[in-house]
Amino acid sequence: MYPEDYPRIKVLDVETANQIAAGEVVERPASVVKELVENSIDAAARHITVEVMGGGLTLIRVRDDGIGIRPEDAPLAFARHATSKIRRASDLFQINTLGFRGEALPSIAAVARVEMDTRAVGEKIGVRVRVAGGGEPEVNVVGCPPGTTVTVTDLFYNTPARRQFLKKPTSEARAAVAIAEKLALAHPEVAFAMYLEGKRLFATQGNGELLAVITALYGLEMGRELLPLSDTGEGWALKGYISPPWLHRAGRSHQVLIVNGRYIFNRTITRAVEDCYRTVIPSGRYPIFVLHLAIDPQKIDVNVHPAKLEVKFQQEHELAQKIGVAINKTLHTPRAVMPASTSP
Ligand code: ADP
Ligand code: MG
Repeated sequence: MYPEDYPRIKVLDVETANQIAAGEVVERPASVVKELVENSIDAAARHITVEVMGGGLTLIRVRDDGIGIRPEDAPLAFARHATSKIRRASDLFQINTLGFRGEALPSIAAVARVEMDTRAVGEKIGVRVRVAGGGEPEVNVVGCPPGTTVTVTDLFYNTPARRQFLKKPTSEARAAVAIAEKLALAHPEVAFAMYLEGKRLFATQGNGELLAVITALYGLEMGRELLPLSDTGEGWALKGYISPPWLHRAGRSHQVLIVNGRYIFNRTITRAVEDCYRTVIPSGRYPIFVLHLAIDPQKIDVNVHPAKLEVKFQQEHELAQKIGVAINKTLHTPRAVMPASTSP
C-alpha cells in the first residue's frame, strides 16, 4: 500500500556512522526546537506549529502535517544512527535533507521525556512512541491526525549538571524563538505558528513569499524598506533582501544566511556583506540581510559541525566576493538612495 519510495528508517552501518561529524546536538531548548522542526521540514510538512513552555524545560511541542512514519518504523526513529535520509557514506556528498545523522531523536530522548504521535500517509490510525531518559520505547496504537507531533517534557531532568549551564528560562525561550524565526525565514513555503507560554508570537502564511515572512516576523516597516536582491553565477543563485543604508541594528540578530534551505553562519560571507556597508552606516551598527543561496550540493560540505550550523564552501572567498558585488550593486539602485516612505 506504500509507494516504492516511501522513506524507510534504517540503522546506518558503523563505517558510515563513523564518518558523520559527532558531537552533542542537544545543548539547550533551542537545539531541540531546531532538530524537531528540521525533521518536520524534511517530512514535507506544509504547516508546523511550535509550542514552548517554561523556557523549553517544561515543554516543547512540534506538530506537523508531514508524511509521518510507518508504524513498524516508529520505534526505530529513536535508535542511534537510524535514519531514512541517507544509506551510505557516499550520500554525504549529495545531501538534500536537513537531517542525515539519525541522532536527534535518540539524543533528545536520552535527556527528556518524549512522546511522539505519528500517522503515516494512507494509514487510518497512528502510533504513539514514548521514551524517557534513554529507556526502551513504549509503543501503542492511537488515533491522531496525519503527520507527526513530538512532545518533549522535563528537558534535562536526568542531567542536573547540564541544567546548570542554561541561562534564565526567558533567555532560553528567546533563543528558541530566534531559531524558529530562522527556520520560518528559510522556508517561506511552510506555514509556521509559534506559541510561547500559550500565547501566539508569530504566524507565517506559507505562500512561498520571503517578503511576507520578513513582514510577519520583523514588522511592516522592515517589509517595506528592505531592498530586493537577486543574482546568479556558475552553480549558485542568490536571492533575498538587504537593508538600505538608513536601516541598521546594534547586533547581528537580523542577519540570516540560508544555504539550500539550511540556516547557517559563515564568517567570510557575513564579513563580505558588512564590508559593503562600512562607509554608509555608523560604526558599531550592523546591516540587516535575509539571503537565500542556492548552490550545487557538491560544492558544499554540511558534515563539518554536529548542529550543521557551519558549512564549508569550495572557493569560499571567491563566492563571498561575488556576493559582495551583488550587494554593492543593490546599494547603488535608486531605492537604496531614497527611503520608500519618502518617495512619491
Ligand atoms: P535524521 O533527521 O538525521 O534522520 P532524527 O533522529 O532526527 O534523524 O530522526 C530519525 C528518523 O525519524 C528520520 O530519519 C525520519 O525518518 C523520522 N522522523 C523524525 N521526525 C519525523 C517527522 N516529524 N515526520 C516524519 N518522520 C520523522
Ligand atoms: Mg533530524
